[in-house]
Amino acid sequence: MLWFKDISSFRLKLITLFSFLVIISMGFVAISTSFFLHKILINYMYTYLNNQAKPVIEFYSIYSNDLTKEAKDMIDDITSENITAVVLSSNGNIISVGSFEDSEKPIALNKNILNQFLKKPIGTFEENGEDYAYIVKKTRDVYFVVIGRLREINKVIKRFVYILLTLTIGVVIFSVLSIYAILNKILKQLDDITKISEEIYAGNIDINIPDSSSKDEFGIMFRAFKNMVEKLNNTIKIQKNFIADVSHEFKTPISYIKAQIEFILTGVYQEDEIFDVLRKVYKQTDVLSKFTEDLLALARLESNIPISKTNVDVVSLLNQLKDEFSIQNRNIILDVKSQDTWIADPHYLKIAVKNLLENAIKYSDKDIVLGYTGDCIYVKDFGPGIPKEDIPFIFDRFYRVSKDKRGLGLGLSIVKAIAQIHNFSLKVEVKEGTTFYICK
Ligand code: ADP
Repeated sequence: MLWFKDISSFRLKLITLFSFLVIISMGFVAISTSFFLHKILINYMYTYLNNQAKPVIEFYSIYSNDLTKEAKDMIDDITSENITAVVLSSNGNIISVGSFEDSEKPIALNKNILNQFLKKPIGTFEENGEDYAYIVKKTRDVYFVVIGRLREINKVIKRFVYILLTLTIGVVIFSVLSIYAILNKILKQLDDITKISEEIYAGNIDINIPDSSSKDEFGIMFRAFKNMVEKLNNTIKIQKNFIADVSHEFKTPISYIKAQIEFILTGVYQEDEIFDVLRKVYKQTDVLSKFTEDLLALARLESNIPISKTNVDVVSLLNQLKDEFSIQNRNIILDVKSQDTWIADPHYLKIAVKNLLENAIKYSDKDIVLGYTGDCIYVKDFGPGIPKEDIPFIFDRFYRVSKDKRGLGLGLSIVKAIAQIHNFSLKVEVKEGTTFYICK
């Protein structure tokens, strides 16, 4: 079977295997049916010979006392185009040999063969390339050997085998064509997957992947592949943007700080201006330190460093955050439905809620509700909301919807990493603004 392994096309492999199986099974059906048909027809022949012999024997047994003398007449009475007979004496000597109606010559059977027939009184034999069936009837002092041509039976079997052969060829052609069509349909999706993978390998990520409506396993696999490629493309695009975003977000404050310090050192600023400039420089270092903190926090969370969980009083955590954020001139309404403690790392839980509050402040300009439902901590704002098509991606690293606000697209991915590390679930609801839920 080495040659089979060497076939590189899966299509060809399957079709070869399938055709092989169809031919084998059809061949098996053909051989077994011909065998049984042959057996049935031969048995039918024996019965027929018996039925022909019976009246002749009965008649001559009544009519004559010495059947050896009636041998020729008995043979003549039974002879037809397909039947003839031989009469042997009780000690096996040939008395008379008949010939078929369409032949002048008597059937060529010698004494030895005929004596073997006496030992096995029913059977078949071949003579001059033609098949015959015989039965031996013992009647008083003679053996009446009735012989029938199997020519017609062989013809029927030959016709049957011919029909089966044609049918086999038809079934093989039909099955190969149908399996080829089915395979083509299924394997087209594999071909598409290969082509798409090659395109991605070559660096082309903007590929339009067609939809598959097929409900079979290949269809499911194709759709899973499509989703994976779309997600991968998205990640690649996001990472490309990240380089640009990070360099912009880091370069701008660094250039500003560097320039201002240079101006101070070269004496561009008057002494009374320096304090104000340093305050602005300080603000920029704050921005830089926030970005660095976010990146480090994410790296730490994703490297699975163990966290230290304790009982965290949810309400006091929310109160603390409300106080911290109220300094920013925004009204934060507390909506607490129950007093509760969560088992969590207080430092990370605070960062998660803080990030949600920062986003609410950044992306809306009205009041913000900070609440606890008994199951979920939530942050609700009344801002513009998030477009539906962006929602599946907002928790991805560096994914940003609105570019008009400062940010790196890390805030929500940190919230997601914190939720995951605690086994908390995360939900977002866009309805008259945006509400994020962290649920235990
Ligand atoms: P960013 O640094 O851009 O704020 P985040 O990961 O915190 O990154 O948020 C990802 C994106 O989700 C943001 O770019 C923003 O468009 C959107 N988003 C997050 N929170 C809100 C919100 N409360 N209202 C509207 N959009 C939001």
